[in-house]
Amino acid sequence: MLNVTEIYSTLLGESSSSGFLCTIIRLTGCHRRCVWCDSDYAFEGGSSQSIQEIIQTTVGQGCSTVLVTGGEPLLQSDTIELLEQLLEAGFSVLLETSGTTGTIPLSEVPAGVSRIVDIKTPDSGIDESEIDFDEIAKLGKDDELKFVCQSREDYLWSKALVESGRLPAEPVTVFSPVQDDLSARKLADWIVEDKLNVRYQIQLHKVIWPEMDRGV
Ligand code: SF4
Repeated sequence: MLNVTEIYSTLLGESSSSGFLCTIIRLTGCHRRCVWCDSDYAFEGGSSQSIQEIIQTTVGQGCSTVLVTGGEPLLQSDTIELLEQLLEAGFSVLLETSGTTGTIPLSEVPAGVSRIVDIKTPDSGIDESEIDFDEIAKLGKDDELKFVCQSREDYLWSKALVESGRLPAEPVTVFSPVQDDLSARKLADWIVEDKLNVRYQIQLHKVIWPEMDRGV
């Protein structure tokens, strides 16, 4: 059984699959409290659902891509079984996770799932010591590293980490601004000025549906 906040379909707003039609499975609960979190409604509540029920609902949505997110989806032990069954059902499966300690290790995620790891920048309020660099080092070419920057300090910290050699080279590395806190233009200018070899992205769903806090 899994505790589920919501299942819905939308255009994916982040990651390399941004813009594709996608079903979002948002699991309930998170052990972190990032200051800019935009899914805090998933911290508590939700409904208990079997994996079979979740798969049925997801198939009914009619999308070929599925994102499992939260909250922190790697806090619930049955998430691994859900990911396996989604793959078996023929979906292209993405998993969005915090990359911090205290979760099911990233290396236990089934092969074939694209792991999108949110590297917590200093302004998130999560201490660097909570980032699980040992597990992040095991990511490969089908995975992604996402840096959400709220300030110049976040950007410089992220840039230094990317250039440090501490991160695996194969995953796509994405930099995004926190909407309303860091101008999209500023972050873009810094990346261009520094010739930083990362992929820039803004949260598409917040541009298309700025008035909506959930369901997009
Ligand atoms: S890890 Fe994700 S869900 Fe949890 S507080 Fe941070 S942004 Fe929100």
